[in-house]
Amino acid sequence: MINAVIFGPPGAGKGTQSDKLIKKFGFVHISTGDLFRWHTKNDTPLGKKVKEIMNSGALVPDEITIAMLKEELDKNPQAKGFLFDGFPRTVPQAEALDKFMKENGSAIHHIIALEVSEAELRARIAKRRGIENRADDEEEKLNRRITEYFGKTIHVLPYYKNQGRLHVINGVGAIDDIFGNICKVIEGK
Ligand code: AMP
Repeated sequence: MINAVIFGPPGAGKGTQSDKLIKKFGFVHISTGDLFRWHTKNDTPLGKKVKEIMNSGALVPDEITIAMLKEELDKNPQAKGFLFDGFPRTVPQAEALDKFMKENGSAIHHIIALEVSEAELRARIAKRRGIENRADDEEEKLNRRITEYFGKTIHVLPYYKNQGRLHVINGVGAIDDIFGNICKVIEGK
């Protein structure tokens, strides 16, 4: 069983790379963002609880997020491997993930961080603003998500770095080149 985590700020290309990785390695994809979106769309009790928080672009509290993740892991006992996308976003989430993996006699083998600078992301948004007609609240939300990433999520990286488990990949460039670099990490090349 090979398990991996992919990190990256909103707009870094995490979704694109995740799709390619799932196809190539057969991971079960666990995206907490997708799961929360499913719950809000289907108006479940959990969806009702997190809707407002998500709409603001803020992070859902750890307690709720960790419980949802655990449930998802338990649903997939036969998985060949997991690709975690959008989780962990805080150190308590990273600790919980290690604990769950250990309980299953497994571990997170590859931690991949797609690196795109905050300045580059803000420049991309500004450029897009000129082309698309995005609603102001959409833009505000995106800005909030970027701020959450650089204010909170990025602090998870030292947790893994200190354990020598972090691989930083340049997220600026051609999609296939970036994908190739991620594959090298997973294939241990
Ligand atoms: P994403 O599509 O991964 O950017 O997630 C969309 C939204 O879902 C985020 O802006 C948060 O409100 C919420 N969310 C997703 N994953 C997490 C997480 N690991 N911790 C807290 N909130 C999360």
